[in-house]
Amino acid sequence: MSKGLLIFDFDDTLVSTNPVFDAAKMRFVSLIRRLTLDVPNLLEIVNEYDKQLVREKGFARDCFPRALVRAYKYCCQFHGKQADEQVVREIENIGWWVFDQPLEVKEGVPEVLPALRENYVMLLVTKGDRKHQMTKVQESGLDRYFDDVFVVNEKDATLFSSLCWNFAGSLRDCWSIGNSIKSDINPALCAGINAILMRAPTWDFETEPLLAPVPEVEKMYEVRFILEEQSEETG
Ligand SMILES: [Mg+2]
Repeated sequence: MSKGLLIFDFDDTLVSTNPVFDAAKMRFVSLIRRLTLDVPNLLEIVNEYDKQLVREKGFARDCFPRALVRAYKYCCQFHGKQADEQVVREIENIGWWVFDQPLEVKEGVPEVLPALRENYVMLLVTKGDRKHQMTKVQESGLDRYFDDVFVVNEKDATLFSSLCWNFAGSLRDCWSIGNSIKSDINPALCAGINAILMRAPTWDFETEPLLAPVPEVEKMYEVRFILEEQSEETG
């Protein structure tokens, strides 16, 4: 019999995404410095434009390349210079480069997921551009461990409640596991289900204080220990 429902996040929970974006930002910063267009708090400016674009357009792949271009144009303006079309294209390429990088499945994930699957109903719930996220999930090869995969625009308490009632039936046996306090942990807590925070670099858009203390882990192995402990306690 199933011990319950596990709802996993994808990016930076099961696969590393943030380091690739950081590498692209570093390439952008060195280009700006080479052009002697540096400005104070350049990375914060990139993040602000990125958040602004997500607010305007929702999660779309071109938000990041466009944020880099907006930041470049800001730098030009700051120094009283004209933006150069060739540089704009180079910067767009830096932004798009992140989507061509191979996915890195995080340590312990390929061992722990099949083991958990023996005892739990498993869902993968990820935010972003549907086509892009589905391709990434398939590329990672991790889709085989899940009963279902959902790509959503927003993760809120209503979503967690409805998944729980559709796939488990009891709030007590549901867990949300993810690296974003804003998307994976707080809405799960609001819905009355358990949560485990995977400590990993989180994108700026996702920063928020925890609504209540939850177990925090760094590796997927630890998730398994927590679930095992919990199921022993509740019998
Ligand atoms: Mg995530």
